[in-house]
Amino acid sequence: MFNEALSYDDVLLLPGYSDILPRDCDIRTTLCDGVSLNAPVISAAMDTVTEEKLAIAIALEGGAGVIHRNLSPEEQARQVAAVKRYLNWIIDSPVTVTVDAHIRDVLVLKEKYGVSGMPVLDAAGHLAGIITGRDLRFCRDDSLSVAEVMTRSPVTITGVPTVEGAREKFDKHRIEKLPIVDGEGRLMGLVTVKDMEKNASFPNAATDKTGKLIVGAAVSPQDYGQRLPLLKNARVDFVVLDTAHGDSKNVVESVKGIKKEFGIPVIGGNVATREGTRRLIDAGADAVKIGIGPGSICTTRIVAGTGVPQFTAVWECAEEAESSNIPVIADGGIKFSGDIAKAIGAGASVVMIGNLFAGLREAPGNEIIYDGRIYKEYRGMGSMGAIADGSGDRYQMSKDEEPVPEGIEGRVPYKGELRSFMNQLVSGLRKGMGYCGTHNIEEMKKYRRFCRITAAGLRESHTHDITITQEAPNYSSRR
Ligand code: IMP
Repeated sequence: MFNEALSYDDVLLLPGYSDILPRDCDIRTTLCDGVSLNAPVISAAMDTVTEEKLAIAIALEGGAGVIHRNLSPEEQARQVAAVKRYLNWIIDSPVTVTVDAHIRDVLVLKEKYGVSGMPVLDAAGHLAGIITGRDLRFCRDDSLSVAEVMTRSPVTITGVPTVEGAREKFDKHRIEKLPIVDGEGRLMGLVTVKDMEKNASFPNAATDKTGKLIVGAAVSPQDYGQRLPLLKNARVDFVVLDTAHGDSKNVVESVKGIKKEFGIPVIGGNVATREGTRRLIDAGADAVKIGIGPGSICTTRIVAGTGVPQFTAVWECAEEAESSNIPVIADGGIKFSGDIAKAIGAGASVVMIGNLFAGLREAPGNEIIYDGRIYKEYRGMGSMGAIADGSGDRYQMSKDEEPVPEGIEGRVPYKGELRSFMNQLVSGLRKGMGYCGTHNIEEMKKYRRFCRITAAGLRESHTHDITITQEAPNYSSRR
């Protein structure tokens, strides 16, 4: 059988009648059952892309990060917990200390949990005082007891605090931490001014029901049994079965296993055909990730001669998944914001990005100066370097085999901070939605009106017949 398949560069969205401005388009989406995002973008589970810093930055902008798995299970879970801790409204189990502890104990807790102060409890668990950053700053003797140094009778709030109620207390009493107590004076939680300010600065943050940032983690058929208990404990929102060939027996069995044993949302993948999508959905996947070979660092199509150009793969898999109301994620091959609009216009609910994020300040790794320009390292999880660091099982290789890579190692231009770059990406998507006249992601997913273009059409689409003297933040001439 011989089917023609297209990539993003082969097509353009047809403009359609519009009664909406880009800024008014609603880009909220469903990643998988129970997990909603405010922007349809997640970062790749790669060791040069997503660790805790990038996962925090992207979730603050409405997307989500997937922490890679070239990390020990303990370290991966620690990073997930760090993302979950970053944004709070009410801290329901704050770090506390007892009255009879010493200041040196407080200093250890402060260092360990990265907090500036903490509520103090008596033996019965009632709030006895609070140790503030100020109390500690003026205390020169760490052998003193907490009772001697703490602020007594701290300002408190009872019941579930509102933002206005808490703000009033902070302003009136010029305090930074507000313990929540019940009628008997037992500590029920803590609100901090720092958290209130963070919440106000990131109105688009993607959060769970309790106001904490959304984060995912990668697992494999070989390691999910070991990683999932730790990840669940760290309150991960979803896991991604991170494999190069998701239409395989062990991935299908792993989806079933994870659903049955851990009951956590699971994204299965990667696949690139209708049949592969159907098998993962029937196994219980909450979303399916699409992409065999479109990644910028990927050599699978060249090494193994297999794959499906990404536009067709997304279109067909999304059509299959739609009948079961399961979201699909278009993974790999996003070069410009217009590709995000095309992926969603073909039926994807979310895109996953590696290359475009690897050059951000928040991505792992240092900046490299080469030939007078700044770069960051970016490598495939199937590259020699990443395999040596443990990711060979993604490509069905065992540790003692000679590596046969399906990816390369390289560098990408440094791009600065995620916040402004992400704004360029989602604004490009909004513009695409504005040109199509679609009001929200659901409408955009159903749009599916494209024209196919020729090589001359693609040439005309890019800048031509000019030397760029001032690069735009969303378009690079070094393609
Ligand atoms: P990019 O955004 O085009 O760079 O694609 C990123 C995606 O490529 C990832 O999310 C993975 O699905 C895929 N990928 C990561 N490492 C490799 C590799 O070494 N070979 C093939 N595909 C890879």
